[in-house]
Parts: sequence; C-alpha cells; structure tokens
Amino acid sequence: MQMEHVPSVCCFCGCGCGLYFHVSQGRITGVSPSRNHPVSKGNLCVKGWHSYESVYSPKRLTHPLVRKNGRLVQASWDEALSITVDAFKGVLSQHGGSAIGLLSSAKCTNEENYLLQKLARAVLKTNNIDHCARL
Ligand code: SF4
Repeated sequence: MQMEHVPSVCCFCGCGCGLYFHVSQGRITGVSPSRNHPVSKGNLCVKGWHSYESVYSPKRLTHPLVRKNGRLVQASWDEALSITVDAFKGVLSQHGGSAIGLLSSAKCTNEENYLLQKLARAVLKTNNIDHCARL
C-alpha cells in the first residue's frame, strides 16, 4: 500500500505550523511535522498532531442547526441565515451593537476574517469581535 506525504499548513491557530498529511488510498491517516518549515521547524503541538482527526469525525457539522422548542434540528442555510438576521435585528433594536459579539476562526482565511470584522463594525455596530487564534 502506497502512502503519500502531502505538504500543508496546520489551520488550528494563527502560528501556521508546517506539516505533511499522510494519505493512503485517498484518506488522511496521520500527520508529521515539516522539519524545514520556517515557523515550526519540525514541531507540532498536540492540536497539530491530531489536526486530521476532525476530517472524518462523525461529530463534524455538515449542515446548519437551529434551536426549535429547546432542541437543535437540521435546517437549510436559507432558514438558518434568516433566523440569524432576525435575531441580530432584534438585539440591535433593543440593546444596540454592544450587546452583540462575534467569534471568528483560524480556519478562515485572512480575507474572511477581514470581512467578518467589517460586518461587526460597519453593520452590527460593535467592536466585540475576537478570534480563536488568540485563545
Ligand atoms: S495548533 Fe499547534 S501545530 Fe497547529 S499551527 Fe497552532 S501551534 Fe502549530
């Protein structure tokens, strides 16, 4: 059985450590650190070593969930976004932007994170925005 080592970057935080995905028969089976990567120089933290496990996790979210009668149920993107917009509008009109906070992700691109902070500041009128790379 042939195994490929595919170069990539860990996306679990903003450090961007270099790693290789071990790929066998089209499936990722593990990772190893890139010895020559200028940031990580052959190291990975525990999140990096386990970074591939979420790819096939049965717990992975594959569709939006909305809470109905106290239970999370599957919804379409249109329904979930409509509920979110209505909720933001309600909080904004009753309490203002300072009552809203947004959390972004290191799994997003810089451009996506830039757009989220624009949404926060320009549309939702809040500076309450943070990013998991700082956590
Ligand atoms: S989560 Fe760990 S391995 Fe991944 S980029 Fe951050 S420090 Fe590197």
